Amino acid sequence: MKIRQNDKVMIISGKDKSKIGKVVRILKDKNKVLIEGLNKVKKHVKPNPYKQEQGGIKDIESPVEASNVKVVCDACANPTKIGYRYTEDHKKIRFCKKCDENF
Ligand SMILES: [Zn+2]
Repeated sequence: MKIRQNDKVMIISGKDKSKIGKVVRILKDKNKVLIEGLNKVKKHVKPNPYKQEQGGIKDIESPVEASNVKVVCDACANPTKIGYRYTEDHKKIRFCKKCDENF
């Protein structure tokens, strides 16, 4: 997966289409990402007296298919495709295919 934690991503399909958020978690085995504040679903929560939580309906973030998001480039602020290349000391780095900046 080319997406990393803390990447800015744009959702490209579904109800949150064209919204941008920060990746807070990568679910590698499911090929999904959890994005801060996006793709929220209502979930019924049982009260938990041990945690002093009230029951009810909560909005929680639901993971999004990695194929439904695009990484937003820091340099050009466009949703973009990511490429890989190697530095002189053979480090693998990512670059934006739109503006050619490394990130
Ligand atoms: Zn760019």
